[in-house]
Amino acid sequence: MRKLQMVDLGAQYQKIKSEIDYAILDVVSSSAFINGPAVKSFKSNMENYMHVNHAIPCANGTDALQIALMALDLKPGDEVITANFTFAATVEVIGLLNLTPILVDVRKEDFNIDPSKIRSAITPNTKAIIPVHLFGQCAPMEEIMAIAKEHDLYVIEDNAQAIGAEYTFSDGTVKKAGTIGHIGTTSFFPSKNLGCFGDGGCIFTNDDGIGKKISAMVNHGMYKRYYHDEIGVNSRLDSIQAAVLNIKLPKLDKYNASRYEAAQYYNKGFAGINGVITPSYNGSSTHVHHQYTLQVDKKLRAGLVEFLHSHDVPAMIYYPVALHQQKAYLSDRFNHEDYPVTNELCQTVLSLPIHTELDKEQQDYIINKVITYLEQ
Ligand SMILES: *Cc1c(COP(=O)(O)O)cnc(C)c1O
Repeated sequence: MRKLQMVDLGAQYQKIKSEIDYAILDVVSSSAFINGPAVKSFKSNMENYMHVNHAIPCANGTDALQIALMALDLKPGDEVITANFTFAATVEVIGLLNLTPILVDVRKEDFNIDPSKIRSAITPNTKAIIPVHLFGQCAPMEEIMAIAKEHDLYVIEDNAQAIGAEYTFSDGTVKKAGTIGHIGTTSFFPSKNLGCFGDGGCIFTNDDGIGKKISAMVNHGMYKRYYHDEIGVNSRLDSIQAAVLNIKLPKLDKYNASRYEAAQYYNKGFAGINGVITPSYNGSSTHVHHQYTLQVDKKLRAGLVEFLHSHDVPAMIYYPVALHQQKAYLSDRFNHEDYPVTNELCQTVLSLPIHTELDKEQQDYIINKVITYLEQ
């Protein structure tokens, strides 16, 4: 059996090695390292794939979120609502811009932000909502967009974990995750569903004004070279990363399908086993399984992790500490009792290896180890 890893980037690379090596060498021999042809073609390939008017590549997914917020002209103290159960980047950029993060609880079923909690967190200072499509499945965007419309709020989708997922509205309209809110962002960190060979990110919008502004902001606020109309940042996707992504983007749907298939195989393996809850599917979104996350009895989790690790099965806890308990984000605004679901999930979640190269032999081994521990 091949060695188990949370993601197997090496095996994925071996299958596309000749295409990738050629694309990288092509950039190297052209010397067009910054904003070269590979970046321009990636931008338009991404716009076509996402069915969105503007895809603006940038340096990473955290920058993408920061720049999205910068484009909205918010003032210090304006409140931005996001989920308490997510990777810290989402809340980090809110704090960095001197905006006020408002953390709300999530839903136990799909780990995503709870729209009823968003509603009760809205104040006259609320300006934006950042839903995160956690682990590969869309947050309840129909409800979120309705709340935003009612209260005149911006919505920025943190789509770092669900690139390629599709959301179906009750009238049958289907949209790609990241193209539903006013702005969407993503990350091409190597282990993401569409990963490059370093850092990378992208910002999506259908709004021409916001698109134009963000295109300038990623490059020092220049609409015209050496004329700085905004305070921007230096956040560019480099050409080598764009060349890698141009090869991988056409394979993304296939990659996502193989993750989904692997998840279904796990689900079948864990059906009827006491002590674990398999991921649930919210019905309005496809699931691209950035993670395969079980909920395990909290008394058993630490022992299970130790047992799995001792049998060379990697398993990770995303996320062990709620954001309201992180030192950097401690605040009187947050009451521990307001986050019953997040608090529970931090003690029960367990993510198993899931990636495009996982085979049945590896999954059978992992399933067997989990069940052996739970049934002993
Ligand atoms: C990975 C991730 C980010 C940050 O992306 P980077 O490219 O690592 O900066 C932001 N939000 C979520 C939910 C993520 O998973």
